[in-house]
Amino acid sequence: TLSDRLTSVLQNLRGKGRLTEADIDATAREIRVALLEADVALPVVRTFIAKVKERAKGAEVSQALNPAQQVVKIVNEELVGILGGETRRLNLAKTPPTVIMLAGLQGAGKTTLAGKLAKWLKGQGHTPMLVACDLQRPNAVTQLQVVGQRAGVPVFAPEPGNGVGDPVDVARKGIEEAKRAQHDVVLVDTAGRLGVDEEMMRQAVDIRAAVQPDEVLFVVDAMIGQDAVNTATAFADGVGFTGVVLTKLDGDARGGAALSVREVTGQPILFASNGEKLEDFDVFHPDRMASRILGMGDMLTLIEQAEQAFDADQAEAAAVKMGSGQLTLEDFLEQMLALRKMGPIANLLGMLPGAGQMKDQLAGLDEKHLDRVQAIIRGMTPAERDDPKMINASRRLRIANGSGVRVSDVNDLVNRFFEARKMMSQMAGRFGLPGAGGKNN
Ligand code: GDP
Ligand code: MG
Repeated sequence: TLSDRLTSVLQNLRGKGRLTEADIDATAREIRVALLEADVALPVVRTFIAKVKERAKGAEVSQALNPAQQVVKIVNEELVGILGGETRRLNLAKTPPTVIMLAGLQGAGKTTLAGKLAKWLKGQGHTPMLVACDLQRPNAVTQLQVVGQRAGVPVFAPEPGNGVGDPVDVARKGIEEAKRAQHDVVLVDTAGRLGVDEEMMRQAVDIRAAVQPDEVLFVVDAMIGQDAVNTATAFADGVGFTGVVLTKLDGDARGGAALSVREVTGQPILFASNGEKLEDFDVFHPDRMASRILGMGDMLTLIEQAEQAFDADQAEAAAVKMGSGQLTLEDFLEQMLALRKMGPIANLLGMLPGAGQMKDQLAGLDEKHLDRVQAIIRGMTPAERDDPKMINASRRLRIANGSGVRVSDVNDLVNRFFEARKMMSQMAGRFGLPGAGGKNN
């Protein structure tokens, strides 16, 4: 995963947390691979990486984040921006009914989406109606009727037994019926083909012209990856659309299609479908998609929390001390308090790249234990916190009595502290934290 790869970049980054050109290049290279693995189209990746590099070069050096994290943060912000930033809402007509036409390849998920949208709209107090304009496949009308029944909304379909009807005619009549029955939203389901096809496009264009939709939603399967760009371009040129819906996000697709389609067509993504059931549907969230594409939601969360919780100067000073093995119990207490502000320790550990190896050593650090540790350190004099080596047997007894714990607890803490100090010093070396290597820096 990108997290793993970035861990190795992190380990190679040395020095004072400055964004050098080499740091940016190394991180950008990993992110480029991640985007390609997420099926983002190559030209889109190129433009995107160029933009990120430009911005990273001009970025101020962050004290809360290391260079790789800082580049990741920029990448994420740019991704969210390209994916639309704010959620784009449905355009509703000033005079109802609002007409929404669904277009896309066969199997993209249009009919399913019609049901999902209808249910969602109904939940918001609308009175939607579905119109069955896919007369291509024998079961398409029945499928829409089943979906409409589940969603609890009426379906307008051609009378059975009249042979194959004309979808444009059905569309027109459907709108008339919606007006008559005072439905405020009409969802027009259309036929797709397995591939881009002229007749399908012509039919979609004719339906569009007949019903004058307020929205044409291009429905695209997130699993088709690189093909999404060609398909989207063909639909944009052939029919034209005002928004995108991504489906099958419950699969293992990394969502690169979203970025490509958005970037290539310039049209916003409105909704995301993530399952076969009518409830498996959501308004599209650019931030969630960005972290899915990057495949590092956990690291992004960590970055956010690190920025919020850490006093940058204090963190820097502590990092230097950690790396040089001069950490005191006072620092330890401060760091622990800062860390605890960020949430439960176990969660934090899971987010740290490379933290897997530390898990055993830190397994005992449950929250109650941390409370006790805090109490013990607070029971020490400043001199003792500063130089834990001076904490002899009689001092241990005094501290234990003062903080209401057993002497063995104090022993435990002091021993663990010395162990942790040693480990941090070694870790700092691996991650290139400032101060690493003690005398050498
Ligand atoms: P259409 O040809 O564009 O109308 O596509 P359908 O709505 O008939 O969907 C094609 C197939 O994909 C059906 O089996 C649906 O159940 C399935 N499907 C649609 N949306 C999703 C989704 O978000 N996730 C999953 N897993 N399956 C979906
Ligand atoms: Mg269909």
